[in-house]
Formats: sequence, structure tokens, C-alpha cells
Amino acid sequence: MLSRDELRRLCVELQSAGIRFPDSMPGRAGGAGPADSRTVILNNHVLSVPACSWFVAESPFCAMPDGHGGLVLQCSGKPRGCLQVPAQPAFYRHQTAAGTAYQKLALLHGRDCLASTLYQDCSYRVSGDQCHFCGIGLSLSGGSTVLYKDPAELAEVARHAARTLQAGHVTLTCGCREDERSSSAHLAECVRMIKQRSGLPVHIQICPPESDGVLEALHAAGADTIGIHIETMNMDVLRRVAPAKSRCGLEHYRKAWQHAVELFGKNQVSSFLIAGLGESAESLIAGARSLCALGVFPYVLPLRPVPGTRLERERPPAPDFMIAVYRGVAAVLKDHGLSSKASKAGCVRCGACSSLSLFEDEGP
Ligand code: SF4
Ligand code: SF4
Repeated sequence: MLSRDELRRLCVELQSAGIRFPDSMPGRAGGAGPADSRTVILNNHVLSVPACSWFVAESPFCAMPDGHGGLVLQCSGKPRGCLQVPAQPAFYRHQTAAGTAYQKLALLHGRDCLASTLYQDCSYRVSGDQCHFCGIGLSLSGGSTVLYKDPAELAEVARHAARTLQAGHVTLTCGCREDERSSSAHLAECVRMIKQRSGLPVHIQICPPESDGVLEALHAAGADTIGIHIETMNMDVLRRVAPAKSRCGLEHYRKAWQHAVELFGKNQVSSFLIAGLGESAESLIAGARSLCALGVFPYVLPLRPVPGTRLERERPPAPDFMIAVYRGVAAVLKDHGLSSKASKAGCVRCGACSSLSLFEDEGP
């Protein structure tokens, strides 16, 4: 059994280097979530690790069959612990009354998060302005999902996953769309139907809205938490890796976060901050501090260079860099009374793409 300190270090190392898995266990490629990843459980801690990117072939970590149906994690040929890979959820075998495979509508992320991309494309991608790290169109072109998720079909999947105790919360994401009114009506309808049919807490991720009333509509539909992701608070970096987001402007994001916190409450609004886009640890921690001051949870995670995206040849940051960032951000969270444990639903509650939660309980 690993000590808590050993577990922290090992999880950070695994998310930086990835794990080589036997060929018979392919990972998932594309999508807006943890694409190119595999979910593993180490010491009862769930994390998502790179499994397909080019740098994984150079990883010292590999998963080897233990001869009893399980896996042993090895580092440079030496055993480092037992590794579990969650079995494929039983609901993946089902299809809706309309004939759509459940697996094309939603996937299970982390331990128990039902995740779906409600509209599997983004106006920025169509205009050639896609965020450099984003693979939202890849799973659609690979045929593993459908463009538009029908609210009733999605609610059917959520109801089944909740009843069979496979899901404990829901994350709904989507790309930006030209027609914000009809897009937000679709999101609100998905939230409303999922809540009605499954009773699960729901997290929704959106671009900062242009029109008034979008946040109110999602809150009224029953969304429990919301993510408005700027990805980096460093405007030079944002201009380089997400030009369309940078054109929205920091002030526009700030107003959306403030209003979202008024509606959803402190700790129930979040933004991704991606480490590894060229920003220093100090800059990342300062960005997290600005978000925390607004009551927004900074979900810091290492860059996942997804094959097929413009950053596919990059590597995730080195472990020592990530540990410095996690320690700094965990201290800021504590100062502001924010905690991943207090999040009702979504990526902050799931935590699989980041090792931040492991540092929130580190001693002084
Ligand atoms: S806004 Fe950027 S990150 Fe979000 S879906 Fe569009 S391209 Fe991807
Ligand atoms: S944190 Fe969890 S819910 Fe969010 S993208 Fe990662 S695996 Fe999915």
C-alpha cells in the first residue's frame, strides 16, 4: 500500500508520462473530455492518464497482467502497485427506444460521472479558429458519437445509469454555436429532462454567454454547477492557444463568472486552467488566486496533447512543475474556503483529469 505522499507523486508522474497498456486495451481518441485517455484506479484513487499520445511510448510506466485477471503497475520494470481498470459500464450495451446506442450519447468518466457533449462541434472549429488543445470534432468524425444529443434520449441514458447505480452525477459540455438562443434552449432542455428522469446532480459547461438570461435559464432548468472555462488567465498565452476565447476578453469572462456565482453559489462555478501551455507556475497560481477571489474553483490540470489536435506533438508538464502548481493552488483554495469535496457535480467533483484534490489535504 502506498503512503499518501507516494500516491500524490505517483499520480502526478502517471499523468505526465502516461501508461503503456497491453495492445488488447485501446484508449479513447478524440472528444472534448479526457480524450486519448484511460481511467485507472490506484489505492482507491481514480485518475485519467494518457494512453495513446506519442510520448506514452517513452513512458517508464506500463500495466502488466498479474496472471489473476488484474494488472500490476510497473515503472522501469519494477512493480509500483496494483492497478485496476474499471470494467466497461453495462449500459454501453443498451440502445434507446429510438435505436441510438447509449454509448454514442454518453460515456462514464472517472468513478461515476456520466458525461456527454450535447453538440459535438464548435463554431470556432468550423471557422478554423479552434482552441489548439481541443479535440471536439474528432470523435464525431470517428463515428463514435452523434452530433446532436436528443434531450429525451440522453435523459433515458441518465435514468438507466442512475437506477443501476453506475452514475452519481452528470457533466454536460458543448462547443460554442452561432445561434446562442437555440443552443441554450437545447442545453436547458437536456438539463431539465435529465434532472426529472434521473434525479442526478448536473454540471453544465458553456462559453461565456453573449445574451442576457442564459445563465438564469440553465439555473432555472436545475443545473447544479457550471463551468465557464477560460483555460488560462495569462492573456498572452490565451491569444496564442485559444484566439477565439481571447477575443471574448477577460472582462466578459469575469462578468459571466460573477453572475454565475450569484446564481449557483461559491464553489459551484469553475474554470479549467491548463498547465503546460507555456505559462510559469507563478502565473498559474496567480490566475487561480484571481478566480478564487470571485468564488470560482480553478480546476488546474496538466495539458493532455490529444492526437489530431494542433498541440498533439507537445508533452504534458514535468511532475515537479505540476507538484509546485498543485501545492500553490491548494494553498489558495484553502485561503478562500474552496474545496473540491464541496462541488455538487462535474469535473471538480470527478477530479480524474487532475491530481489537485490529492494536494488539498496535504499537511502544512
Ligand atoms: S470553445 Fe475551444 S475548447 Fe470549447 S469546444 Fe470550442 S474549440 Fe473546443
Ligand atoms: S474531470 Fe472527470 S468528468 Fe471532467 S473531463 Fe475529466 S474525467 Fe471527465
